[in-house]
Amino acid sequence: MSRIYAPTLWLILSLLPLSAVAEDRWQQHEWDVMGTRASVTLWAEQDAAPLFAALEAEMSRLNELLSPWIESSELARVNREAATSAQTVSADFYALLERSRHYYQLTDGAFDISFASAGHLYDYREGKAPDEPTLKAATRHIDARNIQLLPNHQVRFTDPGTVIDLGGIAKGYAIDQGIAILKQAGVTQAWLSLGGDSYVLGDHHGRPWTVGIQHPRDREAIAMRLPLIDTAMSTSGDYQRYFIKDGERIHHIISPDTGKSAGELVSVTILTDKSVDADALSTSVFVMGREKGLAMINRLPGTSVIIIDKRGEVYYSEDLAPAQ
Ligand code: AMP
Ligand code: MG
Repeated sequence: MSRIYAPTLWLILSLLPLSAVAEDRWQQHEWDVMGTRASVTLWAEQDAAPLFAALEAEMSRLNELLSPWIESSELARVNREAATSAQTVSADFYALLERSRHYYQLTDGAFDISFASAGHLYDYREGKAPDEPTLKAATRHIDARNIQLLPNHQVRFTDPGTVIDLGGIAKGYAIDQGIAILKQAGVTQAWLSLGGDSYVLGDHHGRPWTVGIQHPRDREAIAMRLPLIDTAMSTSGDYQRYFIKDGERIHHIISPDTGKSAGELVSVTILTDKSVDADALSTSVFVMGREKGLAMINRLPGTSVIIIDKRGEVYYSEDLAPAQ
């Protein structure tokens, strides 16, 4: 994958100075983790290599806890064992389960990590979807109320058909952890991204960072540029993991009611304070659709949304909408 086109959110590189490399201490690093591309740009007087190593280590640690593809991950163990006996998990994992429950309640069930009870039957790389009866049977097991959070970081499933996946929230959490590492090291200006999620810390040359939303139907184009300072931004799109079957786009954001791809929108971008919240909310609004999604975001203080629907129409939350 090309380095320039990989992230959904584009740092507008033209803002970087082309000269004065010697005294310019803007430093950049990219690597692959959590099934996507990570990228960081920051200002530091000293060599940032140890900071980059610390970010890589933290994100690898989280990946080893949360990945559905690593057999020894906590997530894989919980999916295997939690219907038989309560499983003790790490503080990170438990915090994500609690945050996911919060969003399940806030979104009337649109954000539901047990979507994976049916979601695991899709293989987007191979272009495989389950047949109708199989999907219907699996969809009956999508119900976050079957995930019991117990004291002492324990979790149990009350339904043996339950499968969970934290793909809609884990990247945001990893970014928050990464930004905490940077802040602790005294960094005051940085841009950290992981796939469609990013956080901009401070400003860039005394002006806001300029971050782009990828055009949902043209990999090489930017749909919109936003000037941001100290903001978490998350974009969920139907172009990130998908295949086309019988003319229909089968993608990775699943409606818990049907077990099928949510069909109304093509791109949802959330702006808010913390990446974990931006991440969960962009997935949520994608599932909820324009009307319900806008209504929910308009009720949430300090949170904005930019929605692009199937016809290419753009909708904004009230705080962003241009004055009439
Ligand atoms: P994002 O790109 O942040 O919208 O995350 C998409 C990922 O969220 C998918 O790959 C799934 O792992 C997960 N996901 C899909 N549907 C749901 C849902 N209804 N609730 C929670 N997570 C979901
Ligand atoms: Mg998300």
